[in-house]
Amino acid sequence: MDSVSPTRRQQARSARISAELASLGLALPGTLIERHVRCGKPGCRCHADPPALHGPYWQWTRKVAGKTITRLVPDEQVADYRQWIANDRRLRDLVAELEALTLAIADAGPGSRRGLRSKPPSTSQSIP
Ligand SMILES: [Zn+2]
Repeated sequence: MDSVSPTRRQQARSARISAELASLGLALPGTLIERHVRCGKPGCRCHADPPALHGPYWQWTRKVAGKTITRLVPDEQVADYRQWIANDRRLRDLVAELEALTLAIADAGPGSRRGLRSKPPSTSQSIP
């Protein structure tokens, strides 16, 4: 039986993606939000005109099953969160790239038929 044979270029791309995946480190989904807030103390500088709000405070939010989860991030952890979130974005990009590459290889392989990929890609796919 014939197997799929990626080109040299495709093999190199696959190796590059794998290497980057292996060295990526921790990955956290969600976003970091900067918050400036007003407190409840009347006469505080945050109620002045113009107001000097408290903060910045950092919040990490993520949607899980339609619900938004929020967590206060201590200042000393903000840099870590930023890195983890950036890693997560990169991870998604790399996975998408690897999937596209694999699909191209599969399409070029023996036994692939145009009719099999006539279905357009779904646009309703949501990223968790
Ligand atoms: Zn205040």
